[in-house]
Amino acid sequence: MTPPKDAPDVDELARSMVLLHGGHDDEDHDHDHAAGRAGPWSKAPNFASDPDRAAAVRAATARDRERYLTSGLAPVDCRFCHVTVEVKKLGPEHTAVQWNSEATARCAYFAEVRACGGQSSRSKSCPKLSDSIKHAVAEGCLEKVSSAPSPGDG
Ligand SMILES: [Zn+2]
Repeated sequence: MTPPKDAPDVDELARSMVLLHGGHDDEDHDHDHAAGRAGPWSKAPNFASDPDRAAAVRAATARDRERYLTSGLAPVDCRFCHVTVEVKKLGPEHTAVQWNSEATARCAYFAEVRACGGQSSRSKSCPKLSDSIKHAVAEGCLEKVSSAPSPGDG
């Protein structure tokens, strides 16, 4: 005599196993779903698929770095030889002068030193330019740069 309870239980068990088997198909669908959901996420490194944006970000970073490096630098014209160098005021009596190759080449004082057989690299600065820088400092031109840049003022 088999207990009547047993049969339905096995039947139910079998049905649920069928359901599990059927669920196999659903799992495949789930995979598709997962892939679909992973799509946007896999694009997370946006810059890779967006070179323009990446370039823009790089440019902005470079701009920032340049602004940082050149912040406080003011162009000062040598009143004697009319070259322009970048000058940064470090203190009341202390200025840093950034010579570029063009200014070094065109500075009349350095040219004279070279003409006389001297070495322009041995002279730290064109004395005429030093005067111009002193004037610029006296006029507060270098101060303005760091606080509120207003070229053509005064
Ligand atoms: Zn000069």
